[in-house]
Amino acid sequence: MTASPRHLLFSLSVLFLLTACQSDDPAPALSPEPSLRVEVGTDPHSFAEFERVHIRHMRLDLDADMNRRTLSGHVVLDLERPVPGFQRLVLDTRDLDIRDVNAVRPDGTFLPVSWRLGADHGHLGQPLVIVLPQGIEQVRIDYASRPEAFGLQWLDAAQTSSGKPFMFSQSQPHYARTWVPLQDTPAVRYTFEATVRGPRDLMVVMGAAGNLFERNDSGEYHFEMPEPIPSYLMAIAIGDLVFAETGPRSGIYAEPEWIEAAAAEFDVLEEMIDIGEDLYGPYRWGRYDLLVLPPSFPFGGMENPRLSYITPTIIAGDGSLLGLVAHELAHSWSGNLVTNAAWRDLWLNEGFTVYFEARIMERLYGTDVRDQLAVLAWDGLNETLQTADERDRQLVRDLSDRDPEQAFMRVPYDMGRFFIDWLEHRYGREVLDTFLRQYFDYFAFRSITSEDFLDYAREHLIEAHPGRASLAEFEEWLYQPGLPDTAQEIRPRSDAFTEVDGWRENWQTGVVGLAELPVADWSVHQWRHFLIGLEGLLDAGTMAAMDEQFALVEQQNYEILFLWLMRSIEAEYTPGIERLESFLLEVGRNKFTQPLYAALAASDWGRDWAVEVYQRARPGYHPLTRQAAERALGLTD
Ligand SMILES: [Zn+2]
Repeated sequence: MTASPRHLLFSLSVLFLLTACQSDDPAPALSPEPSLRVEVGTDPHSFAEFERVHIRHMRLDLDADMNRRTLSGHVVLDLERPVPGFQRLVLDTRDLDIRDVNAVRPDGTFLPVSWRLGADHGHLGQPLVIVLPQGIEQVRIDYASRPEAFGLQWLDAAQTSSGKPFMFSQSQPHYARTWVPLQDTPAVRYTFEATVRGPRDLMVVMGAAGNLFERNDSGEYHFEMPEPIPSYLMAIAIGDLVFAETGPRSGIYAEPEWIEAAAAEFDVLEEMIDIGEDLYGPYRWGRYDLLVLPPSFPFGGMENPRLSYITPTIIAGDGSLLGLVAHELAHSWSGNLVTNAAWRDLWLNEGFTVYFEARIMERLYGTDVRDQLAVLAWDGLNETLQTADERDRQLVRDLSDRDPEQAFMRVPYDMGRFFIDWLEHRYGREVLDTFLRQYFDYFAFRSITSEDFLDYAREHLIEAHPGRASLAEFEEWLYQPGLPDTAQEIRPRSDAFTEVDGWRENWQTGVVGLAELPVADWSVHQWRHFLIGLEGLLDAGTMAAMDEQFALVEQQNYEILFLWLMRSIEAEYTPGIERLESFLLEVGRNKFTQPLYAALAASDWGRDWAVEVYQRARPGYHPLTRQAAERALGLTD
């Protein structure tokens, strides 16, 4: 990495504060003082100098205290030293209490070493600098997380359906450092083992092998992750969990209240795995289970390997929102197997995954549903591209001076997906599928950059199949803002949506009445398209008439309900606002809460009311949801 002025400034500030402050007395130094100059590494969101020394295996031993909201214990890191003489290990930490650091000699005895915790760099946390004596390849760190750990959400008994406490992690993009001191960059992969002790009436699960099908009596659980993963895929959850099998290598974990509905909704899970394997080669992670989290989970899903996390807000009773499950499963190839090396390359994880998800949905539900979903994505992407910053309108984005949380917007997902759609259009499905299978195979269990992809594609697509697409066209997709003109070649169309457009227009112009709309035949996605097309066009009286006809305010499908609540804010529609209040108190999924709070804040009547509701909802929200809501409401920057 070439040092930009900003990086220089950054490293100097670390240098100064390492010299000036020491947050803990180091153990008696049997080795030299740590060299104090720390720079952010190749990954601008990590202090890890992973090209010189990196973690290859980790042993976690943790006690979970649900009352004090801490994980405490130790981690032993096995190191590999590509630069053997390099005498320093730098780890990422944020809000961790580091109690002790020891090197472990080959005979297992401890050797106290010098270590320092550097200055606090906000969301990046503090570098933990450890002197590495010669011949040492193992380090043990005794530590505890704090109740405010950004990557952990602790729910007390009153906030769950089981009436028992719950805790879950969310490590992506750079929150693993809030519960384990480690090299918190997707560029580093390691295997791990873990022993975790929790309360005896709760069950501990991890994104790893070894999850039990029943709670054990000791409260102690053992896990192993034999495939090397990056830190953002570290996952742990503790709660009153039960298990339901959906197939020989798949099943569902959830609190008792959710398990039956979830197992019924997700009963296609095993079939989805089979489809994934048929498309892009073997599933390499053993089992694939889902953990249904409480509604406060800030995301739709999180692709933690072997145990993906899922929001209960996709349990619609009819399987209509299973695209999200297909998405998390698809990450078992794109993302978990072949991983973006830094967050600037997020489209490598998400764009391929949205494409893969669409292929699974096409197999399960046919081309009509696939096209409806594609049009929704295309319209949403184009809306985002109109309002996004210039620097956020391209696939490969410079995030080096920003919180990597900002990587997660529509562009890497949907524009990435349409780029792969375009490759399919230019090369044909057969060639592209062969290419993708080889790509997943060649880069399996590796972390790569956009340029690695481009090099591979140049050889295996551009040069192997000349005349179909040029390097310049590839580069335009990756590095130029906005959709390139060539994207029009793959602009999706849906006859089902065209019909809806016709009915909407006829209704709005008085040609037909509400009762004549053929909604009994409409898919959930047609409903979504119908309601999106009514943005800003409804008044409270019309909405009341629609509710009388369709009972939208009582919708069980959260995607439809969300759109109805957005329309309710615009029209100041009282029954919708009442439902909105209970919705915001129950659901913490950012995709819904952020735009709802933003719309309320932008309205001329709703901001104060929204702030009041937010204050009541806040204790049940994840730190990420709080952060986004507070920004939307103008409570923080
Ligand atoms: Zn994803």
